[in-house]
Amino acid sequence: MKRNRISTATVGAFAFAALFTMSCKEQASQNIANDDVEAIFPKGELGPAENFTGKVWNYGLVPADSTYTTLVGNVYFEPGARSNWHSHPGGQILVITDGVGYHQIEGQPIEVMKKGDVVKCPPALRHWHGASPDTGLQQLYIVPNTDKGIVNWMEPVTDEVYNNK
Ligand code: MN
Repeated sequence: MKRNRISTATVGAFAFAALFTMSCKEQASQNIANDDVEAIFPKGELGPAENFTGKVWNYGLVPADSTYTTLVGNVYFEPGARSNWHSHPGGQILVITDGVGYHQIEGQPIEVMKKGDVVKCPPALRHWHGASPDTGLQQLYIVPNTDKGIVNWMEPVTDEVYNNK
């Protein structure tokens, strides 16, 4: 009787594992098909159209204050979406948590960013960042030295610049 119970439990565990594996695979193929990248944080607020092309969502994590002088948050760029050209007086660090994106410092080629990449944007350099055309991007941003300023927004990134990859 006891042995049967163990046996049933074991079969149940295998069935559960098989189901779980199947759902992970389905999820993975769904992500590729729908460009639905994994999110760690809530989507947050839709970014203003005057600073972004396409849909970009911002979720603040650490507000800038005089103790930490560091702003931290998460941005989700939908496929094709990107920031305007801009600069950060105190620099910026991007930590990519999922998806595929582009980053470009003015005068340099577009750099592809993928999950696990850490990208530094040096202080005061004009740059932009966003998703690739086919896959969205999840990025954590860290803006240090906020006593110097956070961001200076400039003009939109044209399709010509964005597609020059
Ligand atoms: Mn930036």
